[in-house]
Amino acid sequence: MATKVRMKTPIVDMAGDEMARVIWDRVKDKLLEPYVSLKTAYYDLGLKKRDETDDQITIQAAEAIKKYAVGVKCATITPNAARVREYNLKRQWKSPNATIRAMLDGTVFREPILLKNVQPAVRFWKKPIIIGRHAYGDVYKNTERCIEGPCKAELVFTTKDGREIRKTIQEFEGPGIVQAVHNLDGSIKSFARTCFSYALDRKVPLWFATKDTISKTYDGYFKEAFEKIFLEEGFKEQFEKAGLEYFYTLIDDAVARVVRSEGGFLWACKNYDGDVMSDFVGSAYGSLGLLKSVLVSPTGCFEYEAAHGTVQKHYYRHLNGEETSTNSTAIIFAWAGALRKRGELDDIPELVEFAVKLEKAARHTIEVDGIMTGDLARISEPPASKVATTEEFIDSVASRLNDSCKASA
Ligand code: NAP
Ligand code: MG
Repeated sequence: MATKVRMKTPIVDMAGDEMARVIWDRVKDKLLEPYVSLKTAYYDLGLKKRDETDDQITIQAAEAIKKYAVGVKCATITPNAARVREYNLKRQWKSPNATIRAMLDGTVFREPILLKNVQPAVRFWKKPIIIGRHAYGDVYKNTERCIEGPCKAELVFTTKDGREIRKTIQEFEGPGIVQAVHNLDGSIKSFARTCFSYALDRKVPLWFATKDTISKTYDGYFKEAFEKIFLEEGFKEQFEKAGLEYFYTLIDDAVARVVRSEGGFLWACKNYDGDVMSDFVGSAYGSLGLLKSVLVSPTGCFEYEAAHGTVQKHYYRHLNGEETSTNSTAIIFAWAGALRKRGELDDIPELVEFAVKLEKAARHTIEVDGIMTGDLARISEPPASKVATTEEFIDSVASRLNDSCKASA
């Protein structure tokens, strides 16, 4: 066997829960360790470990990403009341993704993996649409209230020196509702910078849209922040040099254009738009098992993951000794993304080449050999030649990868 690829700096390896964790271990075992002398900073973010460490393990993992700049994360359980009982937890711990995102001040980019035999529901789409979702504020940090009867609702701003400014929201004559939302200048600007940089990095045009004709101050602020950063921080020149466009339009116009487009751009979305549109775009491209995700911080840290969760239902079947057919493609691509970025940052061309081979092996297994898991077999055209179990699919990818690594050795 050819010598293994060596690494210089570790990748932060964050293990998780349930079926995703089962796949995680098998992917490392069958697809990575035979070819790469893996150097990792390992953090077990499985729910049990988070509970044991009072969730300090998640904070340590985020610190490690800041230190090493590249991480890869397995899906983790965000506990609800049922999980607190199931795992006998001390507390209903926060979502690790939210903790890591807040510590890195990052933006999440979601991108579908396109395959020849999985047609998007929108027949015009030929290239991926990447969604960049702002992950702070708006309706996710709102204050809201029911109005029982006649009253005046006001916004009151109190300055440090005690001055008050009031704005009337509505003079209610009967029952109703109110909501207040906010955002931060710093967060909006780092979102804009991260989107411009990511579009340049991926060599795709950037679209941004809000409803600034209606929300002249709030959405207008986002529009102006993007424009100002584009013009004043050198992005305009870099976009021109790369032959790329920054395109601003209204959100409803953007949606209409997205559906008629052939894809191949980054769509920067405000928090709520990104929440809705990433599910819409993701599912229209095929399966959750084909959706990649990367968290990018303004300081140049990258955390890769599959967009799907721990696939709980499949895991319970697995525990019962039943066969499962869970798609590992997005997890394989998450590792490939992390290895490629590590190779680029550390100037190790063999590591970048290996990442490319790994992606190709997974692609070849599905597109050429027609071997795929049940989620894809349901929508594949032409039909699958084999509907693989979770393990069989990874083993098939391993066999293709072995061939391609041998051929180039
Ligand atoms: P999920 O794990 O994404 O799974 C939802 C359903 O989507 C599955 O039951 C399955 O459908 C299908 N699916 C998802 N990934 C698939 C794959 N790789 N291959 C085949 N089918 C796949 O979402 P969930 O069941 O709502 O959440 C389970 C747990 O994951 C929760 O505890 C949640 O907190 C956590 N979660 C974590 C993250 C993260 O860490 N990034 C993200 C989301 C959710 P069928 O059952 O129809 O086959
Ligand atoms: Mg959503």
